[in-house]
Amino acid sequence: MERLSDPFRDPAGALASLKARVGSLSDKLKVAKLRRDVLAQEPDMSFRGGDRTTLAELQGLGFSPGFIDGFFRPFLGGVFLERALETSSLLFRYYFRCFSAGDATLPARGMQRLPELLAAPLEDRITLESPATAVSAKDVSLGGGATINADFVVVAVDGRSAATLFPDVPEVKFKSTVTSYFASEHLPLSGRRLILDGEGEGPANHVAVVSEVAPEYAPSGAHLISVSGVGAHARDEDGFRAGVRDQLARWFGPSVASWHHLKTYRIPDALPVHEPGSLTGRPGAGQRPDGVFVAGDYVEFGAIQGALRSGRKVAEAILDRR
Ligand SMILES: Cc1cc2nc3c(=O)[nH]c(=O)nc-3n(C[C@H](O)[C@H](O)[C@H](O)COP(=O)(O)OP(=O)(O)OC[C@H]3O[C@@H](n4cnc5c(N)ncnc54)[C@H](O)[C@@H]3O)c2cc1C
Repeated sequence: MERLSDPFRDPAGALASLKARVGSLSDKLKVAKLRRDVLAQEPDMSFRGGDRTTLAELQGLGFSPGFIDGFFRPFLGGVFLERALETSSLLFRYYFRCFSAGDATLPARGMQRLPELLAAPLEDRITLESPATAVSAKDVSLGGGATINADFVVVAVDGRSAATLFPDVPEVKFKSTVTSYFASEHLPLSGRRLILDGEGEGPANHVAVVSEVAPEYAPSGAHLISVSGVGAHARDEDGFRAGVRDQLARWFGPSVASWHHLKTYRIPDALPVHEPGSLTGRPGAGQRPDGVFVAGDYVEFGAIQGALRSGRKVAEAILDRR
């Protein structure tokens, strides 16, 4: 196992990173240059400029094939949920800037805490388990036959559901992911680390001891380990579960046999596909010709930030009309 760390956050790990057999010194200097370049730019969620695949971008920047395969494919594979690196290079640059500028983190009380906090001020005005079956600029029909009238209607569903509500919305293509959670009394690796499959053998692409980041998530007396697969491995949950222990035993040794499997989640529609060119020249979030407003990550880009940006754009458009 080779250790790579960001020298700006972990100066003590810089020497080990330089010595790591993943990538040459030239690759590591290119990472530093890329970091400097993206941080020198304003964060651009409008995604202007020429676009190509992330793989072509990395090759164009001069990274060696070994570094692309050993580091970028598994690292970005966990972000984009695809290791072929066919995702838009504009999105890659945006994400690389986010990773360079801020910290990756987990809310102590779980991701669900984010929508709970957003919903708290509106709690008495939210109706759950009532899917909309039809929408127009002034009303929403619910499954049970009820209709809600409104001055403005905003549809903030996922891309697949949007295509069922609006016949003119093209089908959104999605990427999948699968994650198995394990509890272990033995700590397989200490520290806040992401363990990547640089060999591309799979089925796991990335592993994290989640409880080293958020101890609140762990079952009592145990460490919590998440093991995730992408691409073809994410489409085959049984194959993933069958193969993952052997792979983990090669990485962490025989103690893996004692890890207790807690649960496996396969998420077929995890992230929308963003091919080169797909993020530019779109209407994005806002008002449709039929008067309905649309928001959601699929109209901007597949991330919480994309969803939040879409909501803000729609809110501002509505405030302009009041
Ligand atoms: C495993 C995983 C990890 C991720 N990690 C990150 C991360 O670290 N950082 C990050 O930024 N992003 C991450 N994402 C992406 C992020 O979760 C999404 O981009 C974001 O949640 C999209 O928000 P949204 O509001 O657009 O859509 P959604 O969260 O999909 O919400 C749409 C809602 O619409 C509801 N709905 C659908 N149809 C109807 C209907 N007819 N009537 C009423 N309601 C309906 C759905 O039930 C759903 O609640 C991750 C995604 C996955 C799957």
